[in-house]
Amino acid sequence: TDITTLLHSRIRDVADYPEPGVMFKDITPLLADPVAFTALTDAFAGIAERTGATKVVGLEARGFILGAPVAVRAGLGFIPVRKAGKLPGATLGQAYDLEYGSAEIEVHAEDLSADDRVLIVDDVLATGGTAEASIQLIHRAGAQVAGVAVLMELGFLDGRPRLEAALGGAPLEAL
Ligand code: IMP
Repeated sequence: TDITTLLHSRIRDVADYPEPGVMFKDITPLLADPVAFTALTDAFAGIAERTGATKVVGLEARGFILGAPVAVRAGLGFIPVRKAGKLPGATLGQAYDLEYGSAEIEVHAEDLSADDRVLIVDDVLATGGTAEASIQLIHRAGAQVAGVAVLMELGFLDGRPRLEAALGGAPLEAL
């Protein structure tokens, strides 16, 4: 089986979750399958190596589960980007718009330096708002973005053009 087929077969579509009309992509079957989870981790680690990443940033919460083993496999540090109010140290914050309302994410400023190249990892790229805010956060911390790697991209939501503008030539890879 090729990796795309394997990964696709381990993603469950859940209708009307978290609200009516939404088809939620659930990755828990993939996490429960060690062959698929390892294949995903290895593929992300390959992207980290090809893009010359020095750190892996995972986006709360599923980006933590997917990103941490990538950092270990690639021999890189892991940095959590969290929802506002969760990190105890000195943070940089970035607000962004949701369909209704807004949200804010934060990172520990001291975890990033000017010579870092960061690979951002998450499960799903939807509108691109979360990943775009993360790119802005990393740039404001003085670091570079090596790329964005996601398990899947919901193409009909147009996250890709939005992110490509923010990425300025760095790759967006969806497995
Ligand atoms: P965006 O900011 O609109 O691109 O939404 C992406 C964020 O929402 C990511 O952190 C995802 O984990 C989460 N997300 C959006 N849709 C889904 C889904 O269908 N399944 C799992 N997570 C999702």
